[in-house]
Amino acid sequence: MTLSNLMNFDRPAMAEFFCNLGEKRFRAEQVVKWIHQLGVADFDAMTNLGKNLRAVLQHTAEVAPPAVLGEQWSADGTCKWLMRLGDGNAIETVFIPETERVTLCVSSQVGCALNCSFCATARQGFARNLGPAEIIGQLWAANERLRTFGAPRVTNVVMMGMGEPLLNYDAVVTAMNLMLDDFAYGLSRRRVTLSTAGHVSGIDRLKEDCPVSLAVSLHATTDTLRDTLVPLNKKYPIAKLLNACRRYVADAPRTRVTFEYTLIDGVNDSDKDADRLAALVADVPCKINLIPFNLFEGTIYRRPPRLRIDRFRETLLSRGLFTVTRTTRGDDIDAACGQLAGQVQDRTRRAQRYRCHRTADVH
Ligand code: SAH
Repeated sequence: MTLSNLMNFDRPAMAEFFCNLGEKRFRAEQVVKWIHQLGVADFDAMTNLGKNLRAVLQHTAEVAPPAVLGEQWSADGTCKWLMRLGDGNAIETVFIPETERVTLCVSSQVGCALNCSFCATARQGFARNLGPAEIIGQLWAANERLRTFGAPRVTNVVMMGMGEPLLNYDAVVTAMNLMLDDFAYGLSRRRVTLSTAGHVSGIDRLKEDCPVSLAVSLHATTDTLRDTLVPLNKKYPIAKLLNACRRYVADAPRTRVTFEYTLIDGVNDSDKDADRLAALVADVPCKINLIPFNLFEGTIYRRPPRLRIDRFRETLLSRGLFTVTRTTRGDDIDAACGQLAGQVQDRTRRAQRYRCHRTADVH
């Protein structure tokens, strides 16, 4: 018999699990608290459950997060964990300590199906969606590691690791429900951010189901360019995407969408681009995160010089847009934005195609 992995359940699903065992619903609160708040995976340590129930759980259930397979520390204090999944795939999770917060960058898929031209994850191709346990398990395992160092727990989560979270909607929402649940991690909506390449129908659903902070990877100011950088743009072009952003914050005063804009040398970093960007988002309550392009092996793109990055930011600031340039963290261990790769059993054969192109370039 396969064991039910209790890490897959948010509180309503856990309550259903216990009802099916003939138990009271409040068991869900107790067990969610043991697993996620107290970091306990062993049923015998769950002392308020009663001996019989613990014995039943031993035979029917398990608490199984991904196993930490590797750990790499950057000179700047960032840490990247390689986490093994049950099936031979592995994903990456990044821990980013800052002065006032501890951020975890969480993956939602093994690889990514979107094929953005400037992203290393795209090169790996796509294997599969992660289950809820594999998503929330990254936070569980991170807190577990931090506990062994005596370090503070994670205070902020960004769904900005490998994959497009809105293409794995149900599992991501289940995991985020646990992040927000006071019986589990109790993070406020401001401290959980989902980043999307621009999946419009997913953004609309998220607004209803789990309105966490929204980040949108914009990266271009014309559809012609965005079609090449983020091919999902062909399905959801800029105007439609920006309308979805407006809807997302319409009924929520004081909330803002974050637009991520990766600056790529000679591609999207001109004064004209900055002007167009300012005009496009002028009436969207937002802030802008500029991400200087992070290099990875085999890419044709380059990072703009510092002066250009600063000038782009100043143009946006002068238009009254709240703009920050994201400091690059962890690029010495390939943990920065767009550098995550993991170990993906590529079902799209994209990785193979990229390798062939590169061999062809060499000859
Ligand atoms: N699929 C989601 C989640 C990934 S978040 C999304 O697209 O938003 C990772 C962020 O890093 C995205 O904004 C992505 O566009 C950006 N990124 C990807 N490759 C990058 C690179 N090489 N340098 C800088 N940023 C990159």
